[in-house]
This record gives sequence, structure tokens and C-alpha cells, in this order.
Amino acid sequence: MPSRGLRVYYARMLLPLVATGAAVGLWAYGTYEPNSPLFGRAIGRGPRASRVVYLTFDDGPNPSATQPILDILAAERVPAAFFLVGEHVRRFPEVARRVARAGHEIGNHTLRHRKLHFAGPARIREELERTHALIVETTGRAPRVFRAPHGYRNPFVARATRRLGYTVFGWTFGVWDSDARVAAEEIRRRVRTRLRPGAIVLLHDGDGYDPEGDRSRTVAALPGIIADARAAGYALGSLAELVA
Ligand SMILES: [Zn+2]
Repeated sequence: MPSRGLRVYYARMLLPLVATGAAVGLWAYGTYEPNSPLFGRAIGRGPRASRVVYLTFDDGPNPSATQPILDILAAERVPAAFFLVGEHVRRFPEVARRVARAGHEIGNHTLRHRKLHFAGPARIREELERTHALIVETTGRAPRVFRAPHGYRNPFVARATRRLGYTVFGWTFGVWDSDARVAAEEIRRRVRTRLRPGAIVLLHDGDGYDPEGDRSRTVAALPGIIADARAAGYALGSLAELVA
């Protein structure tokens, strides 16, 4: 048993470490947890009382995937949300317009798909406001929703999204459909097994960094995802229902 003096000494040494650890833990939670409320509210799931799920697509527009996805959604009469990368909107304006014309929810997903957790206020405002302006100029519609690349946020993100009047979204689950090793059947199976009331499903029609990234497996999985959800008694809802 150490002497009292030694115990006090240890306590004095350890307490700041513990406090620092807790602060780092809290910061990490606010930053890396896409649905954490610490740096502003983010909606990670819809109402649990109704059997409705929501499909969301990130990182487009991307002609080879976004267009067939729009065709499938139209054929099945399913609404979805598309979180667009500003640079990809600039590159593929006609695809962005098609998304808007189809009536889907259009979201801001930053200009260059930057991870924002270490970015300062000026960079964050630039990423968000230039993307906002690009989407308005290109599609004639102002986005109302935002999703951070990888879900990474900090307090400046909350400030920038408030200025733009955005509702911020996280997600209930992703299925790693952006990983080339995950086959279409596996993407479909993962969505089927994770569906639950109010789930906001994260899928990808684009690649945050490669404007023409291969998302053919997500495209191939989509009809089965819709069929499985309906077979399990779910309606596919519009994210607009959750916008504040
Ligand atoms: Zn993304």
C-alpha cells in the first residue's frame, strides 16, 4: 500500500491524463460518429414507429452509375436522396440536372469530398457555400440537406450548415458498397439483414475522389434491395419527410 503522500502524487499526475483522455474521447465521438449531436444535430435514423426506410446515395453525380440508378428508381417509383460532390456537379452538370428533375432530394456533400474534421471555418465555408452555389446554378434547386464526407464534423461544420439552413444527415448503416471486393449479391444481402424501421441506408453512386469511380455493383444490387425491403413490409420513404 503506497503512503498517502504517494497516493496524492499519483492522483495529481493521473487526473489531468484522465481528463485529457475524456476530452479526446468526447472530441473523437463528436468528430467521427456520423450521428453524434456534439457538433450540431445530425439525423441518423427516421421514426422507429413506422415501417419506412430511406435510400441515400453519396459522392455523385457519376454518369455510369447515377443514370442507371435513376432509371431503376423511376421504374420502381422509389424516392431517394443524392448527396452531391461539387466538383462532380461541375464535371457532370447534365447528370445533376437529371437527379433534380426526377424530384429526388439533393444534398451538399462538399466541393472536393474533403474530410472536414481538421478544417478551419474559412475552408469549411468555402467547401459548403461553393457547392451550394454550384448546385443552385446547375439544377435550379437549392439543397436543404448536408452530409459530411465520412461523417467527419467539427464545430465549424455546424456553423456553416446553420448559415445555409441545412438539415444535417448521418446514416443508420452503410454496407461498404464502395469496396471493390464486395459483390452486388453481398451488398444486397447486407442491406436486407440490417434493415429496420426508420433506417437511413448509405449507398454510393459515386466515388468521392474518382469522378468516374466504378459503382456498377451498387447499381446491380439496387433492384434486389428494393424488392427485399418491400417483401419485408417496408415502404421506401423520401428523406424530405425528415427535413426540419
Ligand atoms: Zn462521401
